[in-house]
Amino acid sequence: MTKKAIVWIREDFRVENNEALAYASQNHKFVSALYIYNSKNFDKKREAQKWWLSKSLEAFNLDLKKFNISLEIQSGDELEVFSNIKKKDDVTVYWSKVYEPDVINKGKKIRDLLIKNEIEYKYFKGNILVEFQDLTKDDGTPYKVFTPFWKKTEKFYISKAISKNFKIKSKDKKMSTFKKSIIPEEILPKNNWYKKLEKYWTPSEQEAKKYLNELIKDKIEDYGDARDIPGVNGTSKLSPFLKFGQIHVETIWKKCHDIKFKKIGYRKYINELGWREFSHSLINYFPQMLKGNLRKDFDNFPWVKNENFLKRWKQGMTGYPIVDAGMRELYETGWMHNRVRMIVASFLVKHLRIHWMEGEKHFKNCLVDYNEASNIAQWQWVAGCGADAAPYFRIFNPILQGEKFDKDGIYTKKWVPELLNMPNKFLYKPWELEKKYQEQIKIVIGKDYPEPMVDHATARNAALDAFQKIKKN
Ligand SMILES: Cc1cc2nc3c(=O)[nH]c(=O)nc-3n(C[C@H](O)[C@H](O)[C@H](O)COP(=O)(O)OP(=O)(O)OC[C@H]3O[C@@H](n4cnc5c(N)ncnc54)[C@H](O)[C@@H]3O)c2cc1C
Repeated sequence: MTKKAIVWIREDFRVENNEALAYASQNHKFVSALYIYNSKNFDKKREAQKWWLSKSLEAFNLDLKKFNISLEIQSGDELEVFSNIKKKDDVTVYWSKVYEPDVINKGKKIRDLLIKNEIEYKYFKGNILVEFQDLTKDDGTPYKVFTPFWKKTEKFYISKAISKNFKIKSKDKKMSTFKKSIIPEEILPKNNWYKKLEKYWTPSEQEAKKYLNELIKDKIEDYGDARDIPGVNGTSKLSPFLKFGQIHVETIWKKCHDIKFKKIGYRKYINELGWREFSHSLINYFPQMLKGNLRKDFDNFPWVKNENFLKRWKQGMTGYPIVDAGMRELYETGWMHNRVRMIVASFLVKHLRIHWMEGEKHFKNCLVDYNEASNIAQWQWVAGCGADAAPYFRIFNPILQGEKFDKDGIYTKKWVPELLNMPNKFLYKPWELEKKYQEQIKIVIGKDYPEPMVDHATARNAALDAFQKIKKN
């Protein structure tokens, strides 16, 4: 066993229940953590996450200090960084898995390099309940339908995959491997947009634990209903913490499992964790999803290219208040409520017939919780071209969705404040309010708030016609 260990941190910014760190600290005299910032993975694509990453590195560094473990941040390509480690350095390299096809491929190349350079290494299960390789249908093929997938996955997890808690051992002395490190601020996006995010989030392991406690104490009982109401703070908001591994999904699962009286909200919540598992399984078994439709018949779908429409959608200026509220929440906070994600995504792919990949790209750039698996799988779910997807012909009506899920307008008026004085009866179809009343309340449609960019009924019919075309092919 080597004297030193490097734990390569990718999406595991936590000291609690971090198997790779715990193992290294228990088996080596000196341990350091390494983060490699490869700008190619972020440039112009994941601005919100650059901010989250930078802040996470700061917080994680402080947490590691308590164990006498230093955090070294290197900038560049992962292979180049690892090629600087030589056999004479007397180190073993550890990491936790990340379940994305490109990351897995990169990991394989690094493993080969370490083998070539005769450097010891070991990797561990990542932030998942069940690894996708462990689960297929009885005939060996992957699942494409959620319910049977999750039934089997949860059963497998409970019987075979529950991990024990891993504890880090403090080290006597710090060590470092690299001459120079970059500092987290160097990762911050160039555009000051990220400053908005500071109002809403504190990326750290402690904050993740706080959110989990709030979930268990105040939210999980009513989660079944509250999760659909964007005006209520009814969901856990753990998604960005999960993405960066500030909390392990097993920690969440176990805490939920320990609840004594498990009401319906508990089951609903656990099922959502199941969707996360399902998405990871899908993109690994069907990596073609990363580049296009899972359902090949959708390759002939007559998508519309319209830069102006796309821009208005991104800006939250569609003239449909619930859609605009969601898009503005995203731009302001780096997060959007799940119900509204479904509404805005449906609007883009069905009312505007713009390719789901345009929406996926925008979400990737703006979401602090961007997760390749969930984002790709969910966009394809909404578009109808994914696994177990919502049928394309089921088209969300943005007026009815608003009236049903935000009937008092709490959410919509928060994010679209120019509609504050709009009577709730007209909130989701403000153009129907007579002009003279619009003038009285000083919300003239077309002047103070946009006209609807497409007519719902016309857009719906056009979408259905387009869908008929792919069915005929
Ligand atoms: C078009 C679209 C794009 C999406 N993109 C992402 C994404 O990039 N990253 C992401 O984490 N989620 C994505 N989701 C799923 C979901 O919207 C978010 O996970 C959820 O809103 C996060 O908030 P929360 O932590 O409060 O969720 P909670 O309701 O508290 O759920 C708990 C956890 O379960 C998981 N989860 C919940 N719903 C889903 C779902 N439908 N699919 C997969 N996992 C789920 C998340 O990890 C979440 O943190 C997307 C959904 C849609 C419709």
